Amino acid sequence: MAKILDQFLEENLQELRGAGLYNEIDPVEGPNGPTIKVGGKDLVNLSSNNYLGLATDEGLKKLAKDAVDKYGVGAGAVRTINGTLDIHVRLEEKLAEFKGTEAAIAYQSGFNCNMAAISAVMDKNDAILSDELNHASIIDGCRLSRAKIIRVNHQNMDDLRKKAKEATESGQYNKVMYITDGVFSMDGDVANLPDAVQIAKEFDLITYVDDAHGSGVMGRGKGTVKHFGLEKEIDFQIGTLSKAIGVVGGYVAGKQQLIDWLKVRSRPFLFSTAMTPGDVAAVIGAVDKLLASDELVDKLWENGDYLKAGLKKLGFDIGNSETPITPCIIGEEKLAQQFSKRLMEEGVYAKSIVFPTVPKGTGRVRNMPTAAHTKEMLDEALAVYEKVGKELGVIG
Ligand code: PMP
Repeated sequence: MAKILDQFLEENLQELRGAGLYNEIDPVEGPNGPTIKVGGKDLVNLSSNNYLGLATDEGLKKLAKDAVDKYGVGAGAVRTINGTLDIHVRLEEKLAEFKGTEAAIAYQSGFNCNMAAISAVMDKNDAILSDELNHASIIDGCRLSRAKIIRVNHQNMDDLRKKAKEATESGQYNKVMYITDGVFSMDGDVANLPDAVQIAKEFDLITYVDDAHGSGVMGRGKGTVKHFGLEKEIDFQIGTLSKAIGVVGGYVAGKQQLIDWLKVRSRPFLFSTAMTPGDVAAVIGAVDKLLASDELVDKLWENGDYLKAGLKKLGFDIGNSETPITPCIIGEEKLAQQFSKRLMEEGVYAKSIVFPTVPKGTGRVRNMPTAAHTKEMLDEALAVYEKVGKELGVIG
């Protein structure tokens, strides 16, 4: 190893570990369901994005296995050479139906999708108004585009209007885009899309909503854009196939012309191998399930409400989430980490989230209830929360 690299790694790893910021990864010894096995111990799992429990659905597993038998384990090439299988085409038609748009394009992950889509449309002569709490993949996608990035105070529509006016009236930029998460994953708040769309219309902003945490959750499962009835207004509807859908992948849904453009100009589509057949088949099955019934979505919200009510009754600060995402705000970073560690020792897997992911002094344990949890599992988690909360003086 080059001496300079050795020194760089040594110094930086030591600093991270010293500050307690090196994230040790606990491998899960089996399926990522409502309970998981970690270190030989069964735990109630409140840390996955598998909102509807579909990651372990028997029907979807069968579809994936059948697709592997028919097509093999890999697509064999990038989409534009001969990696586009007939099921990729079916998947994209299905996603457009799901999102109520003319067309859709699938990518290998949600992260890839943001890197692909933003930089395919925006360039150095453009500006992007980006909510300050947007996901890392949006931030990286914006950077890759080389457009001027203008941070908008979180969910502040006055700030958006002011900056949209300045950017468009400056005459400096060819195009201006507004990008926001549909549901913000740290606090569970929902983007104010109706007001944002009004402002976008006034200043001719391109609108881009990454609904990674809203799809399968909001709008009877169809997402935050559908929840507000804005399918015709939002230019880019982004989703991931890795959270509520339970598999892996990402997509843009929008007008046919937009999708046509992304198919010839977005680099992960052009230069990275297509989604595997098993994944594609499982995603088609998951979307079919969501189109056929609201049952899982209803169960998710019921469980979210139950956990929130239980934590609130115990005296925890659960913030202002408008979705099943349930933060439990502890405060000081070290205490939040200790809280999460004690939860795990007592049988609950709920990760702490601290600065810089959330503001200093708002360290929290984030709970992600799912449709697959039973009331008994949630009661078990609440009993552990009560025990650890009292022990660490977080509740009285
Ligand atoms: N966008 C948002 C808002 C996300 O929360 C995430 C996942 N953490 C992603 C994109 C990336 O999605 P994926 O895991 O499918 O790459």
